[in-house]
Amino acid sequence: MLLTFLGTATSTGIPVLGCDCEVCRSDDPRDSRLRCSSLITTDDGKNILIDCGPDVRAQLLREGVKSIDWVIITHSHYDHVGGLDDLRTLSYSRPVDIYCTDDVAADIRRQLPYCFSGSNYPNIPKLQLHIIEPYKEFETCGVRIEPVRVFHGKLPIVGFIFGNWAYVTDATEVPSPTLELLHNLDVLIINALRIAPNPTHMNLAEALDVIKSVSPRQAYLIHMSHQMGRHEDASRRLPPGVAFAYDNLKITV
Ligand SMILES: [Zn+2]
Ligand SMILES: [Zn+2]
Ligand SMILES: [Zn+2]
Repeated sequence: MLLTFLGTATSTGIPVLGCDCEVCRSDDPRDSRLRCSSLITTDDGKNILIDCGPDVRAQLLREGVKSIDWVIITHSHYDHVGGLDDLRTLSYSRPVDIYCTDDVAADIRRQLPYCFSGSNYPNIPKLQLHIIEPYKEFETCGVRIEPVRVFHGKLPIVGFIFGNWAYVTDATEVPSPTLELLHNLDVLIINALRIAPNPTHMNLAEALDVIKSVSPRQAYLIHMSHQMGRHEDASRRLPPGVAFAYDNLKITV
């Protein structure tokens, strides 16, 4: 499978509106980050979106994506679901399948009531919600996915394990049943907001502690704030085998 990092920023995106810090003014393309989302392309050309934030239209146009087969959602914060309506033009021939926990499904129904009202209005996005549960593996189009519990401050959300690699975003805490499942992966993708602590996202030191405890062959950091510093400068803080992801980065998993 090919994984494309569509966006690697925290909820503000980078540059941050109204900010002129050195990161937001940087001309290094790796310092320009859209809201956090990734695209998995399977060997037979199916496209799975991990989260669907408010930048999804620009992200899919940039990648030349013509179809989305499923969307898997970590949690219902705006920076992870705010682009679901933009999938409407990809849903005309058949509904887009969305996999999420029951609380997230309830939030999506509240956020986009017109998609679930039963109305026949012709241009409504056709979104089909499927309920998933932590630690209950499911399979779609030949890809086995295990949702796992992580905590986003006090909010229980999910990360995803795909055999030999995993995706965890917006976590502050990775509970021990999940930690056990993350051991010795080929690739771990995990959030790291900034250097200073934060109540609802791991900072760099906390993310590096998790990485050290589960020993992936390679780790990529996502969901960064401009307060992490410029990509090139911040990368000097990282141990071997850990890298900041950046928008458009593609890896084989
Ligand atoms: Zn987020
Ligand atoms: Zn800034
Ligand atoms: Zn969040």
